[in-house]
Amino acid sequence: MASTLSRHPLLAGVAGTVVAVLMASLSIVTLYQGRQGALEHARETSANLVAIISTDIARNIEIYDLSLKAMVEGAQNPALTGLSPTLRRQILFDRATSAAYISGAYVLDARGNITAAGEDSPLPPDSFADRDYFHAQQRSPSTGLFVSPPFASRVRGGALTIGMSRRVNAPDGSFAGIALLAMNTAYFRSLLDTLDVGSKGSIFIVHQDGAMIARKPFREDVVGHSFAGSPTFPRMAHAVSGSYAAVSPVDGVRRLYTFARVPGTPFIAGVAPAEDDVLAPWRERSLIVGALTLLSGLSFIAVSWLLALSLRERARAQEELVRLAGTDALTGLPNRRAFDERMDDEWRRARRAGTPLSVLFIDVDYFKAYNDTYGHALGDDALSTVAHSIATAVRRPGDVPVRYGGEEFVVLLPDTPLEGALHIAEAIRQRVEACEIAHRVSVHGTVTVSIGCATASPPGLGGAYALLGAADQQLYKAKAAGRDCVRPLAHAAAPAASS
Ligand code: GH3
Ligand code: MG
Ligand code: MG
Repeated sequence: MASTLSRHPLLAGVAGTVVAVLMASLSIVTLYQGRQGALEHARETSANLVAIISTDIARNIEIYDLSLKAMVEGAQNPALTGLSPTLRRQILFDRATSAAYISGAYVLDARGNITAAGEDSPLPPDSFADRDYFHAQQRSPSTGLFVSPPFASRVRGGALTIGMSRRVNAPDGSFAGIALLAMNTAYFRSLLDTLDVGSKGSIFIVHQDGAMIARKPFREDVVGHSFAGSPTFPRMAHAVSGSYAAVSPVDGVRRLYTFARVPGTPFIAGVAPAEDDVLAPWRERSLIVGALTLLSGLSFIAVSWLLALSLRERARAQEELVRLAGTDALTGLPNRRAFDERMDDEWRRARRAGTPLSVLFIDVDYFKAYNDTYGHALGDDALSTVAHSIATAVRRPGDVPVRYGGEEFVVLLPDTPLEGALHIAEAIRQRVEACEIAHRVSVHGTVTVSIGCATASPPGLGGAYALLGAADQQLYKAKAAGRDCVRPLAHAAAPAASS
C-alpha cells in the first residue's frame, strides 16, 4: 500500500474522499432509520391510545344496550300496561336514567310518539317518526341495536345527541315502537379530555357516515359537521383499522393518523399526533449528528488531500533528486552513472531483440591547451557548446548522449548499424566545427572533436564494455590520425571482427 501511495500519491485524497462519503452515507442511512423509528413509535403509541378509547366506548355502549334491552322487555310486557305511570316508569327505566351521559330515555309507539319517558316531566308532544333511529327499527325486525349519527336534540335545546334504539314488538311480532336512549356527546368529549397527543396533535371520534362526534382540541366549527367529503375520510371508512399521514382538512397541519373501528358501534376512534411534534426530537438530534458528520467528513477530506498533495510533492522532489543524481551539472547531459545503467539495459535489449548497438566515444582535441590558453571558465563554456552540439545532432528518443567525464562524451545509439552511427558521428564533428570556437593553439584554429565509433551486431555480440573499449580504441586511432575526424569499427565486440 505504501509503495502504491508513493507511485500514485493522489490516491490518498481519493481514498479519503471515498471513506468520508461512505461514512456520511452510513450516517444518512442511520438518521433515516431513526426517523422511521420515531414514526413507528408514534404509530404504536397512537394505536395504544385508540385501543383505550375503543375499549371505553365499547364498554359504555354495551352498558347502555343492557338498559335498552330492559326497556324493550318492559315495553313488551303486557303486565306493565295496567300499572300507574310512575310505577311503570320506575320499572321501565330502572337502570337507564341513572347512567352517566344519558340525557333521555323513552319508549315510542309505532307512530313515533313518546309513550313513556325516564324523566318526570311533561312528555314532548311531537312525533319522532322522522328520526333515523326510528326508521331503522321500523324497517326491519332484525336491526338490533341502532346507534345514530349525532343530531341536534329537539327536546334539549339543540344539544348534540346520539340516539340508541331497539325495536319494541307487538305480541304478533309487528312493529310496536322503539326503546330509545339519548346520549349526550359530552361523554366523548370528556373521554378525549383525559388523553394527550402533543400541542399540535388531535384525537377524534367520528361516525362511520362522516359526522364528527368529538375532537380534541375542541372546535365548534368541526364537531357535528360531516367529513364524508374529505379526501382522507374514505380511508378510515373502508378499513377496520389503519394509519396514514395526511394534511388535516380542519387546520392544515400534517398529522400521522392512526384509527380503528370501535367494535360493535358505528364509531371510528382516531389519534393523530402532528408530524412536527413526532419528529422534533429526531430533527434536533439529526441536526447535531448531521453537522458533526459534515464537519468531520470535510475535515477528513481536507486532511487526506493535504496528505496526497504533500506526498505528490515529495514524490516529485524524489524524482528530481534521482534525475539530478544522473545528470551532469555543467552540460545538463546524463552523467557516467546514468550511462552505466543505460548501457547495461541497452545491451540486454539489443541481445534480446537481435538489433545492432553502436557507441560513439568523443574527445575534445587539445583541450588542456585550450584551458591553459583561455582559462577554465571559457573552457567550461566551450564544453557546454560541444555538449549542445552533440545533443542536437542525435535526434531519436532512444539515443543517449552522455558526459562521460572531463572533456569526453559518449553517445549510445540503440538499434543503429555502423553506417548510421558513422553518419551521426560525422554530423557531431561537423556541428562542433561549425561552432567555430576559437582555439589558436590547435592546428585546426577552432575547437574540434575526435570520435571513435564501434558497433556490435548480432549474433556476434560480446560484452557491453568490450564495445565501449573498442570505441575508445577507435578514438585513439582518430587522435593518431591527426584529430578532428571519425574512426569507425564494425562488430567491435565480436571475436572475428577486429581490424
Ligand atoms: P587530446 O587532443 O589528445 O585529447 O589532448 P587534450 O589536451 O584534450 O587531452 P588531455 O586528456 O591531456 O586533457 C584534457 C583536459 O581537459 C584536461 C583538463 O584541463 C580539461 N578538462 C577536463 N574536464 C574539464 C572541465 O570540466 N572544465 C574545463 N574547463 N576543462 C576540463
Ligand atoms: Mg581526454
Ligand atoms: Mg582531449
